[in-house]
Amino acid sequence: MDIINLEKFLKGRGEKDYRLKQVKKAVFVDLVNDWNEATTLAKELREKLKEQFQISSLELLKLLESKNKDSTKAIFKLKDGNVIEAVLMKHLNTKDDDTKAGRNTICVSSQAGCAMNCGFCATGKVGLKRNLTGEEIIDQVLFFARFLKKENQAINNIVFMGMGEPFLNYDNTIQAIRILNDKDGFNLGIRHISVSTCGIVPGIEKFADENLQVNLAISLHAADDETRTKLMPINKTYPLAELMKAVGDYIKKTNRKVMFEYLLIDGVNDRAEDAANLAKLMKNSLYHINLIKYHDTGSDLKPSSQAKRTHFFDTLKKLGVSVTFRVSFGEDILAACGQLAGKNNVLE
Ligand code: SF4
Repeated sequence: MDIINLEKFLKGRGEKDYRLKQVKKAVFVDLVNDWNEATTLAKELREKLKEQFQISSLELLKLLESKNKDSTKAIFKLKDGNVIEAVLMKHLNTKDDDTKAGRNTICVSSQAGCAMNCGFCATGKVGLKRNLTGEEIIDQVLFFARFLKKENQAINNIVFMGMGEPFLNYDNTIQAIRILNDKDGFNLGIRHISVSTCGIVPGIEKFADENLQVNLAISLHAADDETRTKLMPINKTYPLAELMKAVGDYIKKTNRKVMFEYLLIDGVNDRAEDAANLAKLMKNSLYHINLIKYHDTGSDLKPSSQAKRTHFFDTLKKLGVSVTFRVSFGEDILAACGQLAGKNNVLE
């Protein structure tokens, strides 16, 4: 929903503020599928809206549900033919370490493809097609809000961890966040929104000044420059010292906790020295590490064994690091971390 232009359109017609509120309520609260359902609006206005504003800029190509029904991946076609993905993760309370039981999280994409070329990520292999507009980001959320409404459920969390690097599409990401948080818009609590970056230092610096209580996550995946550069080429531009300084400054300004994401890859970043280096980096009490099981994305990298994952976790604990295992979703439908735009995608 192109809410910015919709607002301009209503103002241009001389509509009063309450009319805009009614329109926003129809879109974000009543979650109408069609302007005809917005019966609080006069028929003439509904007709005009129908002519000029589509309820969604996304065409659903495919909906895939995981076997255990905890994840649903939507593959969408954009108006220019590019393809993106978004994932609904249902915390079904079947996992021991899941503290969000009964809640629904949407993982959204911020770009079609991605230029960052991280070695463990399927999206990186397709390269960057283009930035998504704020409207296209919001429409991923609204799609799943309408989807969940049929089950009398709602979205509880939004994470910018799908395709793309949100800080390389900074303005549209922030615009989408503000609309999703707007009390007359989607009205999701700001602390229920998280943005994950691969380490774009200028983005982190700018984000610190937004005065938004959005959660920040850093895709770290290695604790020394050599390994990190091999896994994530962006580390050449923003090496660990620079990245950690930016995160430290962010915390000084915001006093907010920062999550670090760490995929465990066999023989690459799961060795004893990696745990020791990681513990050295995690010296701030507001740092928290999320260990994640690596999922096959067709590269040469292999997941660490269960024994190694447990050992790595225990070592970090012993070294005093605040650490958890992140619950994994949707491996069988290629919806897990790093798998979007993988084998069954149509981006190529
Ligand atoms: S992990 Fe994120 S930043 Fe890296 S290539 Fe994949 S989508 Fe891009």
